[in-house]
Amino acid sequence: MADAPYIAGVDIGGTKVACVLADEEGNILARRWQLTRAQEGWQTVVSQLFEMTEQVLEGVPRQQVRGIGISCGGPLDSQQGIVYSPPNLPGWDAVPIKRIFEERFGLPVRLENDANATALAEHCFGAGRGTRNMVFMTWGTGIGGGLILDGRLYRGTNDLAGEIGHTTVLLDGPLCGCGKRGCLEALASGPAIARRARELAEASPESGVWQRTSPDAVTAQHVVESAMEGDTFARFVLAEAATYMGIGIANLAQILNPERVVLGTIAVKAGELVLEPLRRALEVHAWSRVRQVLEVVPAQLGDRAQDLAGVCLWLAD
Ligand SMILES: [Zn+2]
Repeated sequence: MADAPYIAGVDIGGTKVACVLADEEGNILARRWQLTRAQEGWQTVVSQLFEMTEQVLEGVPRQQVRGIGISCGGPLDSQQGIVYSPPNLPGWDAVPIKRIFEERFGLPVRLENDANATALAEHCFGAGRGTRNMVFMTWGTGIGGGLILDGRLYRGTNDLAGEIGHTTVLLDGPLCGCGKRGCLEALASGPAIARRARELAEASPESGVWQRTSPDAVTAQHVVESAMEGDTFARFVLAEAATYMGIGIANLAQILNPERVVLGTIAVKAGELVLEPLRRALEVHAWSRVRQVLEVVPAQLGDRAQDLAGVCLWLAD
């Protein structure tokens, strides 16, 4: 079945779950999605996934299906196919999702964390096409990473490679969700941007951000929207976060010497408003010969990334 034309992709998120059937060119032939009934426990979510997977596989002979690829938030064990308590999936503790799917569908199953799977998707079909050494970084609620080195996904010893969001970029900096201080994620993620705007609210009463929302309710989205309208304060807050992102990427580039870094959500939405300060930080913190070969670009796949993430597990080895 290694050259079977179809692949099923499963995306398990805390907000939504989706299943697709695709071909090896990345064309989506069938798609189902539902809101994740995460609070009802893992068994309920698995039954949602079974239902949707059955629907996308309906009428397709099993020998035409190469396998099922599952993309899920970590921590997880990709070799054993076990998911360990992702923060957005309460009650998932050592769920053997690979075996559960294999038994149900009689097809081979691969499991990968969502950042790695999305990195493969951007590498196969998006902004990372044609590269040998590429880093994909999610940049939204969290900052995660997937490393494609020498054309292959690099997982590390126990699936923890690429956790760029939890490298330290500021000594004694703000507390991170992981328990450390000064992590990149605590300084540059969406919630970090919102926190910084809130901290500086009293000093910026005239900012357009405060015409949109109150300091209690501010999100990174409000800051990005105001910055796009030219608001000086919002641009300052975004540039500060982007500078930390630039430092994080410079550290990464000094170690891995990649040819492309592909950035998710915030870079896609804010574009040059974040890429310009980010590149300035790179100029300060990375060697010119490292920068010479390095492009930093926004991701290209948008919502398709999640659909293709699981599928791509069967397109790479
Ligand atoms: Zn952290």
